[in-house]
Amino acid sequence: PRHIYGERKNSWGMDLSNEHVLSQLQDDMTMASGIDFNVSSLTHHDVAHIPAFAVLNPANHTDVVGQVAFINPNQVSDVVGVAINAQHSWQNVSPKQRADMIRAFADLMEEPKRMALLMMVAVREAGKTLLNAIAEVREAVDFCRYYADECERLNLSTPLGAVVAISPWNFPLAIFVGEVVSALCAGNTVVAKPAEQTSIIAHLAVSWLHEAGIPTDVLQLVLGAGDVGGVLTADERIDGVIFTGSTDVAKRINTLLAKRSDNPVLIAETGGMNAMIVDSTALPEQVCADVLASAFDSAGQRCSALRILCIQEDIAEPMIEMIKGAMDELVVSDPRLLSTDVGPVIDSEAQANLLDHINTLKQTSDYHEVRVTDGEQGTFVAPILFELKDLSQLKKEVFGPVLHVVRYKAHELDDVIDSINKKGYALTHGIHSRIDGTIEHITNRIQAGNVYINRNIVGAVVGVQPFGGHGLSGTGPKAGGCFYLQRLSRLDSWDIPT
Ligand code: GLU
Repeated sequence: PRHIYGERKNSWGMDLSNEHVLSQLQDDMTMASGIDFNVSSLTHHDVAHIPAFAVLNPANHTDVVGQVAFINPNQVSDVVGVAINAQHSWQNVSPKQRADMIRAFADLMEEPKRMALLMMVAVREAGKTLLNAIAEVREAVDFCRYYADECERLNLSTPLGAVVAISPWNFPLAIFVGEVVSALCAGNTVVAKPAEQTSIIAHLAVSWLHEAGIPTDVLQLVLGAGDVGGVLTADERIDGVIFTGSTDVAKRINTLLAKRSDNPVLIAETGGMNAMIVDSTALPEQVCADVLASAFDSAGQRCSALRILCIQEDIAEPMIEMIKGAMDELVVSDPRLLSTDVGPVIDSEAQANLLDHINTLKQTSDYHEVRVTDGEQGTFVAPILFELKDLSQLKKEVFGPVLHVVRYKAHELDDVIDSINKKGYALTHGIHSRIDGTIEHITNRIQAGNVYINRNIVGAVVGVQPFGGHGLSGTGPKAGGCFYLQRLSRLDSWDIPT
């Protein structure tokens, strides 16, 4: 095949060690860096908006990325009406034609200048580092090609109907695109509501999806805050909701939908309290690199990020020292620089919540904190490691660059696993061990969507490592996996060719 999902060769398909490739990319990105965006919803009929507000770069608040106007919430019902009316004609477009439009959109995203534009917006609007921005576009392309192939393979012709897609700011392109194109591929019409912090990149994606042939009544974008999402999900005419975000909001949506008698579908992917268990046979240097990538990449703002590191007592002292030393090498700075490892957190509210947690824990626990270079202009949080006496000190998911470490004795392994399970989440965990029996034992006992062995625990690859969890972590099916489109369709599994 022309495309291999998740091909990660040469930095996600781009050889950044090639000076020409790098300087071309940087030139293209520089051209995109001065653009002042002005966006509002993309709906089939004109709708009223409330006055626009300025979006500021989280790394540098003097950089105004653009102006975003939110839809007036009382217009949302008309938008849903359009999606319902468009349903029949979209359902009759063949799976092959639908798939080809999605592939055409992927081709657009891969044009070098457009890719640089998306990357620049991911950096300026979401505070992504350069490498994270490349991965962001790469994953969005992967979702398109994967779901397009699945659409043809499954030949789905009985969609749910009109679907609402609500997506988060932490993967503002990849998850947004994944939700939208999966629903479209399965033959649904879509009303998409991205996180308000990352409206601009979503606006680009939807306008290019229209350019690639998706009709404007089949896919509509509404920009707004949580109240708009609330009106959308409360509309009794919608047939399904795809949601990625907090567990609390997922619960609210679930409650709303459950009150209806016609069983609308909910696909929710929420949070995690993800752990890595490291026993005394683990390779310390590898653990160190994998812990740093898992806990601090993307400033820890991934559902899959490592929150709890459990180290066997026998090796804990030198292991923790090595991790602290490696943390001191992290560059926390301007995300546009290739040398930067950790960029800002998304906004001042996120920063305040994190600092609240950090300042509370500092009073009772030993910690090691990284220095931030050049952070005054934005919402940076210094990566920090806390040593906890036990896991009961950690009550909730902490969505940022904060790592909690606990030590365990060999005979306490099952207690550690059980206390992780008791948190109720089941998303992403990791194991570092050279003993097959231990790996098998932990894998069988721990509640998880994905368990990674002797590697980092982030960056699930579309089509290869389907991503999602259960319990407080979501409903499944896993994104980028072979059951996703089926959940967005009414076809029974026995109708599906293998
Ligand atoms: N799929 C992403 C990963 O494996 C995480 C998605 C999320 O944060 O929602 O890193």
